[in-house]
Amino acid sequence: MKKKRLLVIDDDPLVCQTLGHMAEYTGFEVITTGTNVEFFAQLVLFEPNVIVVDLNMPGQDGVQLIRQLAELNHNAQLVIVSGMEKRVLTAAAQAASELGLRVLGILQKPVPLARLQQLLVLYLNASQKKHSKNTSWENQIDNADWMPAQEDLIHVIENDLLTLHYQPKLDCGTGGLIGFEALARWDVPGKGTVTPDVFVPLAESNHLISLMTLNIARQGIRWLSQIQATPALVDCRQYPGFEQQALTLSLNVTAKCMEDSDLPEQLEELCTEFKVDPACIILEISESSAMDDPVALLETLTRFRIKKFRLSIDDFGTGYSSMLHLVRLPFTEIKIDKDFVGIADSSEEARSVIRCIIDLSKSLGMDTVAEGVETQQTRDFLTQCGCTSFQGYLISKPLGQEKMSEWLRQYCAQARVSRS
Ligand code: C2E
Ligand code: CA
Ligand code: CA
Repeated sequence: MKKKRLLVIDDDPLVCQTLGHMAEYTGFEVITTGTNVEFFAQLVLFEPNVIVVDLNMPGQDGVQLIRQLAELNHNAQLVIVSGMEKRVLTAAAQAASELGLRVLGILQKPVPLARLQQLLVLYLNASQKKHSKNTSWENQIDNADWMPAQEDLIHVIENDLLTLHYQPKLDCGTGGLIGFEALARWDVPGKGTVTPDVFVPLAESNHLISLMTLNIARQGIRWLSQIQATPALVDCRQYPGFEQQALTLSLNVTAKCMEDSDLPEQLEELCTEFKVDPACIILEISESSAMDDPVALLETLTRFRIKKFRLSIDDFGTGYSSMLHLVRLPFTEIKIDKDFVGIADSSEEARSVIRCIIDLSKSLGMDTVAEGVETQQTRDFLTQCGCTSFQGYLISKPLGQEKMSEWLRQYCAQARVSRS
């Protein structure tokens, strides 16, 4: 019979109380603590088998506490709780697991009532031999908090199971189609879809990001070469207002992946293989984690430009992306993040930021793309400001290949009507 002792650390007494009640229903003895001092005292006195840690604590945060637990070689199973986005929770779980701790699961606040209980039942039912590092929390695919494991990701990448969804990108002035952004999806048969905010950080922390990026680039470039040759679309391009250059494809690449010095040659080879002009490929660079080597990034980006690939600074205005990068690095496009675009209709501040980004981008001779455009009002505002292009639910959600073909058929039909 397993011992059932649960220790909680959370500075919010109400959360402590709720989590405590949930655990008691599963037959656990519970002690809740609100400070680190109390926590480490109870760790010794109470000898818990399961620990619930809140990541956001005043003073020392949950990540530091996790590191201390690892230094103590503590073998309790860990449940990580936070009100922050899932990607933060995933990263913390990954770090804990790499430090040798056993992670039972993650819980996003507000914690759904039954979720902690599900995790505790999982803990009680897991066989003893499963208690080796890295197993329990990754075996929870039926659970909404399931996190994929490194092996799952390798399997998915090697067997081409990652799929791409495409979102059309339109010219602000003419409304004509100018290209697409490829967004990766991991479909798990019978379980649903794992979103990139979960598997991209996992790929990064497991050195699988280059392999994943190449796999995605191959799929995307092959698809673009087919689309560029579609007769109906070729026809469309002859209509007034629709006569832009060849359709482009934007691929998401994390800055970390750019440290891989072979990537420019590898993507160039793919372009040659599928007869796509590298000038039609836009690499959207975002920083999902700190870069180890900014000089390597500068070198790789420059080599991409020499090969005529275009470079976009993704999520501009948020997080890591900074002015410094704009000036130092050879970007050709700024992408305004949907966090600003999404509230443009209601926030004067957001509109000011957008105007400022567009002016800045013009003064640097760069294109501007707005993502996350959901209303006609936002689109009109962007057009007035001189934004180059936009994408968003107003036009289409990202669609799988088949649905995208249907969307393109309708687009061509409309273009024909508007011509006549
Ligand atoms: P992102 O590059 O900023 O992508 C935009 C996200 O906004 C996408 O989420 C897209 O589905 C969503 N979106 C598009 N239009 C709208 C809209 O009108 N309203 C709202 N609310 N959202 C909209 P998604 O597909 O979940 O991708 C999330 C992030 O994952 C991406 O952010 C990108 O950073 C990363 N990602 C996606 N695919 C890849 C990939 O192939 N490689 C890498 N390295 N990262 C990827
Ligand atoms: Ca992007
Ligand atoms: Ca974004």
